[in-house]
Amino acid sequence: MLGERPRLAQLAEQEWDLIVVGGGITGAGVMLEAARQGHRVLLLEQRDFAWGTSSRSSKMVHGGLRYIAQGDVRLTRDSLRERERLLRDVPGLVERTTYLFPLRKGVFPGRWPMTLVLGVYDFLAGIRDHRFVGRAELLRRVPALNDQGLTGAMSYTDALTDDCRLVIRALLEGSRLGGQALNYAKVGQLHREGGITQVQVADEVAGDSVTLSAPVVINATGAWADVLAGGDKRVRPLRGSHLFVDPERLPVSDCLTVMHPRDDRPVFVFPWEGVTCIGTTDLDHGDHLDSEARASGAEVDYLLELINSQFPSVSLSRADVLSTMAGVRPVIASGHGKDPSKERRDHAVWSRDGVVTVSGGKLTTFRLIALHALAAAGLLDARDARRARRSNAPLFQPFSEAPEAVDHFLHAAQDDEALLSWIVRNEAVVHLDDLLLRRTRLGLLRRDGGASLVPRLRELTAAHLGWPSALWEQEWQRYLALREHAYGVPPSPSDVAAA
Ligand SMILES: Cc1cc2nc3c(=O)[nH]c(=O)nc-3n(C[C@H](O)[C@H](O)[C@H](O)COP(=O)(O)OP(=O)(O)OC[C@H]3O[C@@H](n4cnc5c(N)ncnc54)[C@H](O)[C@@H]3O)c2cc1C
Repeated sequence: MLGERPRLAQLAEQEWDLIVVGGGITGAGVMLEAARQGHRVLLLEQRDFAWGTSSRSSKMVHGGLRYIAQGDVRLTRDSLRERERLLRDVPGLVERTTYLFPLRKGVFPGRWPMTLVLGVYDFLAGIRDHRFVGRAELLRRVPALNDQGLTGAMSYTDALTDDCRLVIRALLEGSRLGGQALNYAKVGQLHREGGITQVQVADEVAGDSVTLSAPVVINATGAWADVLAGGDKRVRPLRGSHLFVDPERLPVSDCLTVMHPRDDRPVFVFPWEGVTCIGTTDLDHGDHLDSEARASGAEVDYLLELINSQFPSVSLSRADVLSTMAGVRPVIASGHGKDPSKERRDHAVWSRDGVVTVSGGKLTTFRLIALHALAAAGLLDARDARRARRSNAPLFQPFSEAPEAVDHFLHAAQDDEALLSWIVRNEAVVHLDDLLLRRTRLGLLRRDGGASLVPRLRELTAAHLGWPSALWEQEWQRYLALREHAYGVPPSPSDVAAA
């Protein structure tokens, strides 16, 4: 479990084969696969687990139709196989979902090119799950969709998840296999001497710091990777933002791909944890990486404009938005100043001075990325890496110690007493925002941000985390400020200029 928070002094007394820096899906995957191979592995995360990009993605476990259209068959094939594996191994956490791609007269791609692409897509996944949906059926399923020139839609399937829960699930499995993980532990300098890397780490909770050492360090810090990698800058941080909106105002039961009228970019509109999610944008992220990423007012305008052109009768406004969420994609830059949406999305692994850096890639392919990084670090030989890639063994063991809702999170009532209590006790909750923004999404999904739950949360945190009243108040204020700043609904730039 992740509940018992180890002290740095204890960790310094142990011997490590591998230290992983970064507690997003990449680091969690590396920790899990290293522990599975029997390595003594420690993961360090500077904030909360999944605080970075891995709680802020579009939640899709998918091959990526876009990648196949760009001719990236290998990335699509690998992603689809991993998708099928996750659907098999964590059925309540990764779920098959119907996707609809509306088709309009005279607009590329039409029915036949899409049928061809989806035929290949399904073939690579080893399934057959696509068909044409006529205009009448489409409008029955999505009555508010703009019907101008609409000829129907292509229907196919991919999968949705809760990205943060997937990270936590990987960390729990990794710790069950003997790995350790510590959040709020920031790595400073890395120093290589005599075949050993010294890792300076500061524990924000205990307020102490130590130097740990290991023969191998894997830098899995995503968008931050250049900081610890040394050498030339390779990561291009691209921000993508989403809106969570009131499902009564924009009800959808399938995942729709709709084109933005301004730039013809595809944007998804999909049902997620009981609300409707819209996203994403895709632009260079100029803000400092250490401040929490947040959607800009212009991005909110862009996404509302999309909805109001594709669903003209809905008239969606800021008042319908429950919360926003922005993430920074670690994209390995082509160096050609490409349009952000045209940059490739696969991962890269490179080494320098005993530090193996892994960045880029996708949530979906975390297992393959982890195996690649471990092979580059010399912790998996080529034959074992090949065998592990092809292995059909289950990724996760059934979780007998936890309430069923932990493994079937997409169907869970997130305010369920047993679920909340288990999470607080076993999932390394340090701050209230860990619980309300990541372990659960109550803070994003509820218009009141969880205010109605205060008495129960207060009791739970007092009983299991020993929070006295003053600490609760401090945590609640911290959470409210954070929610407003980074997950709130910023005003339109035109309103700001007029004020
Ligand atoms: C808008 C958006 C939508 C996306 N949608 C999808 C999707 O639908 N499907 C999909 O498969 N992929 C998607 N992706 C991509 C996917 O989310 C990322 O590839 C993935 O989450 C990256 O994980 P990571 O672990 O590499 O990085 P992160 O999750 O960012 O983890 C890196 C961690 O390192 C920590 N760290 C940094 N410096 C230090 C330090 N010095 N010491 C300790 N810790 C440190 C950070 O705090 C951070 O938590 C999307 C990405 C974005 C931005």
